[in-house]
Amino acid sequence: MEGEHRALLRKPVVSIDPGSADTPDVIPASRFLLLTLLAWWTVGFAVHPLNGEYVGASFLHLINLPFHEAGHILFSPFGTFMTAFGGSLMQLLIPVVCVVSFVRREDWFAAAVCGWWAGQNLIDLAPYIADARALQLVLLGGRTGAEVEGHDWEAILRSLGWLRHDRTLGYAAHWLGALTMVGAIGVAIWITVGLRDQGPGIRAGQGNRAQGSGLRPQGWARQ
Ligand SMILES: [Zn+2]
Repeated sequence: MEGEHRALLRKPVVSIDPGSADTPDVIPASRFLLLTLLAWWTVGFAVHPLNGEYVGASFLHLINLPFHEAGHILFSPFGTFMTAFGGSLMQLLIPVVCVVSFVRREDWFAAAVCGWWAGQNLIDLAPYIADARALQLVLLGGRTGAEVEGHDWEAILRSLGWLRHDRTLGYAAHWLGALTMVGAIGVAIWITVGLRDQGPGIRAGQGNRAQGSGLRPQGWARQ
């Protein structure tokens, strides 16, 4: 009885029987739904390069903003340059940390989605970078950089002596971001379709550890 009790305690809280006939393809369906949304967002962002109004109006901008502001505070002990740069750095670091964390857990799909988010953050930053000389972007306080004392990227590029490259760097951030988003969606589709078609533990990098418990790929793979 005691042993039985312990065995029950060891059972994962969330578990889907891979062999069960009534295991629906709910997870792939929800994943494809999410990927459709990400693809839709990707196209929307990609065709609006350096469009601060479009990027700023996105729901995703509201998610990125608190990390940006926290970065300014977090990096403030490291001087004025890092205080200015810390905001943009932090909004890129958070999704990258999420990617690393999910890779360590071998949750490749979640890692790919966070990779997409990292790319989206580059696109989020692109109009800001490109606005270093023009200072026409409306900032958090409702005024443009020209109306206040400049802004982050004006300070960053000025101290690096790269102000004249602001548009080039902005475009580079935009297209690198778009490429990252497309690549991440591709990886996520490959993982989802590959696992569905070939069963658990077969895909490269899955290894034997994919035989674990919980909502791991084998939970919904066709056997
Ligand atoms: Zn800032």
